[in-house]
Formats: sequence, C-alpha cells, structure tokens
Amino acid sequence: MTTPTIAGTHLAQNYSPLPVTLVSGEGAWVTDDEGRRYLDLLAGYSALNFGHRHPALVAAAHAQLDRLTLTSRAFDHALLEPFARGLAGLVGPLLTGDPLVLPMNTGAEAVETAIKAARKWGYEIRGVPADRATIVVAQGNFHGRTTTIVSFSDDPDARDGFGPFTPGFRAVPFGDAAALRAAIDDTTVAVLLEPIQGEHGVIVPPDDYLPAVRAACDEAGILLVADEIQSGLGRTGHTLACELWGVRPDLVTLGKALGGGILPVSAVVGRSDVLGVLTPGTHGSTFGGNPLACAVALAVIDLLTPGDLQAAARVRGEQLGAGLAALVDGGVLTGVRRAGLWAGLDVRQGTGRAACEALLRHGVLAKDTHGRTLRLAPPLTITSDELAEALTRTTTALAG
Ligand SMILES: *Cc1c(COP(=O)(O)O)cnc(C)c1O
Repeated sequence: MTTPTIAGTHLAQNYSPLPVTLVSGEGAWVTDDEGRRYLDLLAGYSALNFGHRHPALVAAAHAQLDRLTLTSRAFDHALLEPFARGLAGLVGPLLTGDPLVLPMNTGAEAVETAIKAARKWGYEIRGVPADRATIVVAQGNFHGRTTTIVSFSDDPDARDGFGPFTPGFRAVPFGDAAALRAAIDDTTVAVLLEPIQGEHGVIVPPDDYLPAVRAACDEAGILLVADEIQSGLGRTGHTLACELWGVRPDLVTLGKALGGGILPVSAVVGRSDVLGVLTPGTHGSTFGGNPLACAVALAVIDLLTPGDLQAAARVRGEQLGAGLAALVDGGVLTGVRRAGLWAGLDVRQGTGRAACEALLRHGVLAKDTHGRTLRLAPPLTITSDELAEALTRTTTALAG
C-alpha cells in the first residue's frame, strides 16, 4: 500500500481550492454536497460562458456520444470540415486574410501551435536565420503552463524552478506601444498578447494601444497573434475583444468557452499563408478536432452566431459595472476594471482570497488572482435578476 505524503490526499497540491465541494450545476447556479446553492461568478474562467449544462450544448454532446467520439486525425470524420467552416465563418471576418482553422484541445496547446506556426512562417517566408526567431510578448501575460509558455512569464509562481527556459521571447510592458515597437527587429516574427490581460486582473489597455500594436506589426511585416482564450467568444460583449478597438489580428487562439464547459476544445484561427506552413507530420494532436469536440464546438458557434449573447454581455456588463461602481463609491473597493461581463476588482481590506471566502459564505463563487484582486466572469446567460442577486450578496459579503 502506498501512503500519500500529504495527510489525507492522493492529489498533487498544485491548487488550493476554496472549501466547497460541488455536485451539480445549472445555468449560473451550482449546488454543493450539502445542498447549498451558489451563483457561479467565475464560470470556469470563462469556459462556462453559456452557463452550466446549457441545453443545446448538452444535447449536442449526448447525440454525438451515441454516434462517434474519436477517430484520431489518421482518418477524417463528418464534423471536422463543418467545424472549421463554422469557426472560420464566426471569427474569419474579424481577422486579416482568409483563415484556416487548426484544432487542438487546451489553451496552452493553441498558444504553442501559434508560436510554432509563427516561427516556421518566419523562417520559410520571411527569411529569418535558422533558430533566431523572436516573439515580442507583454509583461504580466498569462498564456498557459507549458515549459515554453512559462519561459516568457514574469510570474515567479508560474516560472521559478521550471528552467531551463525556451529562448526567443522579449517581454515589454503591457500598454506601452513605444516599448513594443522598440523590441521589434529583423529576427522578430510576431507579437503575442492578450488584448485584455485576464489572469493579471482584467487589465484593459489604453484605447490607442492595440491599434498602435497593429500598426507596428504592419510596418515590420510581422504577425499580430491575439490570445483570446479567455477574452474571446462573447466575454467582452464582442466575439473577439480585439473588436473593441477595431483591430484585426493575423492569428487568434481560442479555447475555454469553445468547449462549452463540457470538454477542452481549442483552436488557432488565422491567415492561410501562416498556418499553411504546417504540413502533414509537422504538428498534431491525438484528440485535437475529435468528433465529440467538434459537435460541442459547432453548437457553441451556433449559440454565438446571432450575436445575442454578445449583446447580453454588453447589457449585463453595464449592470455589473453600475453595481461595482457603487462598491467603489462606498469605499469597499479601491478600483474596478471592466470589459463587457468581465471585471477585475481590487478590495480595500484583506486579501483577495479572504474576500472570496466571504463571498463563498454568502453563496457566491469567485476567484482571486493576484494579491487584492478578484476576477468576476459570470456566465453570459445570467439573468438580470440573478446578477442583481449576485451583486447584493457581493456587497453584503465585502462590506461585512
Ligand atoms: C486559460 C488561458 C490559457 C491556457 O488555457 P488552458 O486550457 O488552461 O491550457 C491561455 N491563455 C489565456 C489568455 C488563458 O486565459
């Protein structure tokens, strides 16, 4: 018999969850093992943009479970091309050029895929000398947890102890277009950023930033890669957060909500001359683009196509903003940053963690990010009454 090294658990301790054990969920609500109900204002870090067990998504998954779940990419299946066409239809008009779609599973894999494609494009099309390609990134970024991705993180928790690190990345302050421009040289193949930094606390850049980044990329003839894994698919009131500033990226990484909160589905979507450098055998994934993933993602695309959920995120976002502004006025919060139905809150007293514990006691689930900051990302399907209730509970919890 093996004995766990940490008393009472066989689980690796790479998380410290709030003390609640969830057993069921529906829409914006979840229920714990004692029958207590909570409003879920984290929504799986935006993976649950459509709430828990959205009927259309559950139905799509059930139907596909009874048909075909996995083929591997060694064989074609009937939903792969419809998925690619659907996603290209949804986000293609928001990108430069005619898009291809490359399906993967997790967000980190999509980011890795974008990095690989950008580098190979740099060598083959732009003539960057072998193994010299650089990518400019933003300080305070979060793009996932692989060794290459943590190589350009500046969060000591994410990075320390995991070297040696992958070279080829230059980090500049987020929001500073002049610093970004100065970091670009002949070896640079791409700029990779989150248009709004989610994990860093929903940091919204100045209005002229993304247009200036786009201009710098155009002048240098390099790629703008937007990581919209958290910001995309409706969260900010738009299909892509880049739309807030009328900026079209060359490549976009999508994940989280693309799997409808049911299973991991990610993708890179973008210029065919860039993704076109990936030829058979150069990149792949056993599960990427599997039939179950495509069935759910197609239902997600159907939910987003009319634009109603993006509009709901704008309307509910105003309501959220008004509620949070009152907490700033009341002195409970020192600051709020918001885009659509996505907000970063800085609490005046105590830690973000303590604030989340207080919210939990009042039946609200949220997650701290750094120090005194909480991040709220309610499902886009939350009703006005549910959001009002969530704000009342949040006010009571934080003021108490
Ligand atoms: C969550 C996230 C990722 C990583 O996604 P995983 O599915 O956890 O690998 C990458 N980029 C951004 C912006 C994210 O929010």
